[in-house]
Amino acid sequence: MATFNIATIPGDGIGPEVTVETIKVLDKIGQLFGHEFKYTEVLAGGCAIDATGHPLPQETVNICKKSDSVLLGAVGGWQWDTLPGHLRPERALLGLRGELGLYANLRPALLHDALKDACPLRPDIAAGGIDIMVVRELTGGMYFGDRGRKQTDLGEAAWDTEMYAVEEVRRIAKVAFDLARKRKKHVTNVDKANVLESSRLWREVVLEVAKDYPDITLDHLYIDNATMQIIRDPGFYDVMLTTNMFGDILSDEASQITGSIGMLPSASLSGGGPGMYEPIHGSAPDIAGQDKANPIATILSAAMMLKYNFNLDKEAAAIEAAVTAVLATGARTGDIMSPGMRPVGTKEMGDLIVAQLKG
Ligand code: NAD
Repeated sequence: MATFNIATIPGDGIGPEVTVETIKVLDKIGQLFGHEFKYTEVLAGGCAIDATGHPLPQETVNICKKSDSVLLGAVGGWQWDTLPGHLRPERALLGLRGELGLYANLRPALLHDALKDACPLRPDIAAGGIDIMVVRELTGGMYFGDRGRKQTDLGEAAWDTEMYAVEEVRRIAKVAFDLARKRKKHVTNVDKANVLESSRLWREVVLEVAKDYPDITLDHLYIDNATMQIIRDPGFYDVMLTTNMFGDILSDEASQITGSIGMLPSASLSGGGPGMYEPIHGSAPDIAGQDKANPIATILSAAMMLKYNFNLDKEAAAIEAAVTAVLATGARTGDIMSPGMRPVGTKEMGDLIVAQLKG
């Protein structure tokens, strides 16, 4: 029996509720496929501030680093909104990304057949299905570059620097090409190489890496065009590879065309250490503690963990199939409710998914 050690960070708001449901699903997967998942719960975010005075206690970092993987619910809430920036709950996320070296952010945007009504695009545009994986560089570029302010003749000025080194581009490009091999073998590189020198280097490296992947089709889009194309013809795209800042924008856009925020998982990977798996939504304080949260985004994040961290493809597929099966029965949490469907709460949604899991 294989044993996997998972650090769990339930966090704040709906985080604990969706994490509990996800652990139920993982435990059932363990029973069905003969694995043992061991959990160590740690503090991060607002609850960590209340308990220790800091959003990311060192003990949390140490335990996450020693684990095989990290599962995170969500952090944040109005109680902590007035704290200075370095003590805000969200600092825990940036801290964990840095400490774990999570340079690759994977955000799938998949339109489930049963939720086609939730897609804001015209039915004929979405008819071919939407299954895009945005691969975003997560630890470089403008969000981490040199920045500052100075006085000029035109008043105070501020700058941020977009800089990428060859190795930073190479490693994220390889993640995208490797993923494409397991999917539809199509990578779209998104940059701004018509204007930015950093994008020109980015594209040169992507073209270089592509030589090792002759089986993968590679094309390129400038970011401004990319934001138009994914709502014009979303079915054309498979893996979209891009920088930290462009990926921030593109992944939000891609996720919204598939409907609810409560459905969307994410994975953040390093080059071999533990990855971090979390829903893309926040702590949703407006519905916390009311059994209203959709746990599917976190449950699908656990499926990504099984696939990308533990190489348990069959087990990941079993979770995805169970989610699809439950949606097909018409069960819906409030965020994905539509006329004629059956309303369920967080716990019931978790139980229904567990009941649909097959070994
Ligand atoms: P949010 O994602 O928490 O909520 C936005 C809206 O979506 C709300 O109406 C909420 O009820 C709904 N929603 C979110 N997740 C849902 C789910 N699983 N099921 C049903 N409905 C869901 O974003 P926000 O309101 O801007 O932020 C709330 C707090 O979360 C803030 O403190 C913010 O900083 C924090 N946040 C944390 C993360 C994270 O932990 N990764 C990400 C984003 C925001």
